[in-house]
Amino acid sequence: MSFSLEKKANLKPAQKINLMGMPMAKVENFFAAIGEKRFRAAQTIQWIHHKGILDIENMTNFSKPLRRKLVSIAEVRPPDIINCEQSSDGTQKWLIQLNGGSCVEAVFIPERGRGTLCISSQIGCALDCSFCATGKQGFNRNLSASEIIGQVWLAAKSLGKFDQTASQCITNVVMMGMGEPLMNFDNVVDAMKIMLDDHGYGLSKRRVTLSTAGIIPAIEKLGDVSDVSLAISLHAPNDELRNELVPINRKYPLSGLVSSAKRYLDKMPDNRRKITIEYTLMDKVNDRSYHARELANLLKDLPCKINLIPFNPFLGAQYKRVTDFAMYRFRDILQQHGYTVTIRTTRGDDIAAACGQLAGQVNDKTRRQERYKKKFSEEQTVKMIF
Ligand code: SF4
Repeated sequence: MSFSLEKKANLKPAQKINLMGMPMAKVENFFAAIGEKRFRAAQTIQWIHHKGILDIENMTNFSKPLRRKLVSIAEVRPPDIINCEQSSDGTQKWLIQLNGGSCVEAVFIPERGRGTLCISSQIGCALDCSFCATGKQGFNRNLSASEIIGQVWLAAKSLGKFDQTASQCITNVVMMGMGEPLMNFDNVVDAMKIMLDDHGYGLSKRRVTLSTAGIIPAIEKLGDVSDVSLAISLHAPNDELRNELVPINRKYPLSGLVSSAKRYLDKMPDNRRKITIEYTLMDKVNDRSYHARELANLLKDLPCKINLIPFNPFLGAQYKRVTDFAMYRFRDILQQHGYTVTIRTTRGDDIAAACGQLAGQVNDKTRRQERYKKKFSEEQTVKMIF
């Protein structure tokens, strides 16, 4: 990091260095660059992510001159929560406003013995999967590392972690909210480092999951710098169908994707890890018996477990929810082929917090949202006429 204290002294808030999203190595470099001891980095990360302190003046194991120096050039700034909803099943959803006015959503799902936080990595998503509410919102920009880890910080604060009043805590984080995390590689990796750091949130690498639609070169790169759990949003057992549901498949087809997931596992220090395959079941689209058999065959050489997700319809969606009969038939076929299969229980239905329903408020740069709304209103008009 090149950093000149003289140049940066007494900066306006927007120009200050935001320490919120900096992992250990970067905070160490920051302190070294301003002529301070590197060990201050661990203390800073603890103040922010263990104790929830945002005001540098309250970091009381720093001398007053150091605090003054830090205040003039740095800040700790999370994004803002502008709305919070709680479902009857305990699921909580936060609408979080970012610089520029767009919003993303984060969801906390409490279960017996664990609490899973689902966070976003981009405002909207450029990949436009045909069954996804986020995709329909278009794309604005990548989140900064501060905005990504800021969601964890805000959720931890809301749940009472910092003032020791928490009755529920975050044990798992899944990057499955808005956006394709591997299209925002560096910021996502920085945020995950803070999640895993014992001075940060101290989560186990098995309990931090990155979910991707299959950006093959980035999966290769991820395996070199991280060993978090990997989930693949598959949703189809052949290229023809997947090209339709997950258009990025045209660039990175299935055979390459499965091989790259296998190479990711090969890079892990332990050989007991598995890839999670996410498969959203849509009525008469990808839920037939032959799809299940094709999927079983496709994955036969990949250590994996399969998570079936009943499609959650949203306004204007072109697909319907799978029937229970088709869903259990699909599961049974996979189990007969020896796979571990789970069915994701839908949570937070009453606050639209279920999988694929996160939408936020995207200042869309792609005009996809506009086109989608136009198409949807034209279809509604046609339905009213006939
Ligand atoms: S499913 Fe994931 S990758 Fe596809 S559009 Fe939605 S957020 Fe993007």
